[in-house]
Amino acid sequence: RTLIRANGIVKTYRSGEMSVPALRGVSLEIQAGEFVAIVGPSGTGKSTLMNCLSGIDTVDSGTVIVDGLDLHALSDRRRTEHRARRMGFVFQGFNLIPVLNAVENVELPLLAASVRPAEARERAHAMLARVGLADRARHRPGQLSGGQRQRVAIARALVGGPAVIWADEPTGNLDSSTAAAVVELFAELNEGGQTIVIVTHDDTVATCANRTIELIDGRVATVPVTWGDWRQS
Ligand code: ADP
Ligand code: ADP
Repeated sequence: RTLIRANGIVKTYRSGEMSVPALRGVSLEIQAGEFVAIVGPSGTGKSTLMNCLSGIDTVDSGTVIVDGLDLHALSDRRRTEHRARRMGFVFQGFNLIPVLNAVENVELPLLAASVRPAEARERAHAMLARVGLADRARHRPGQLSGGQRQRVAIARALVGGPAVIWADEPTGNLDSSTAAAVVELFAELNEGGQTIVIVTHDDTVATCANRTIELIDGRVATVPVTWGDWRQS
């Protein structure tokens, strides 16, 4: 099942006289159940592509269809709602709230979506257990190691049951063995059927994905396809 279909997307950043073309006509499809790595040199448009596919940002031209919805046709408010309900995000810098403990960080998206507090708490604990942090629920981010913080962030991304987890350089702040454990967690989640799209410039991270999309200078460089690992869901 095709989850995301991008057709000829173009994105140019403008500020004053400056005009920086970031995406110059990108077309691609992502199937439900895939684990895709977006790779390529720095400044080549990877983060921009992720932002445009996930509904964080809008394209200048071309279309992005997610779950049958044309993101560009949605109002900002509906696009924000769609993103909050259907997308989970993991960032290089974890982006946890320092004054909240792990379980409070994880339940936040549920509380924002008006899930009852008791149920939100229960689901947040279940997610922490799933990422191997059942015994760290009351720790604040400052009391956790880098790898543990990223696991909390992954639990927070997962807790709403997103269609896709988007991870932008999720191992960028981690040492190599911690990074490997985080990538292993993504692989496990994907085994369980979770669709994952990861931006990385780390080849060892990229090799864990089912498929690699390489961007060069705002365009897709190659389209290697690994049919075998595609799952229907
Ligand atoms: P990558 O993720 O591959 O490093 P990005 O998508 O971040 O690449 O950036 C692509 C290009 O767009 C780069 O030239 C970058 O400098 C530029 N760019 C990214 N974000 C902005 C922005 N908010 N304003 C202006 N230029 C930007
Ligand atoms: P790293 O493995 O990145 O070096 P640390 O040495 O900071 O991380 O942490 C090692 C372990 O100690 C982790 O399991 C972490 O949860 C725990 N820990 C670190 N600081 C505190 C703290 N202030 N209070 C409670 N536990 C802590």
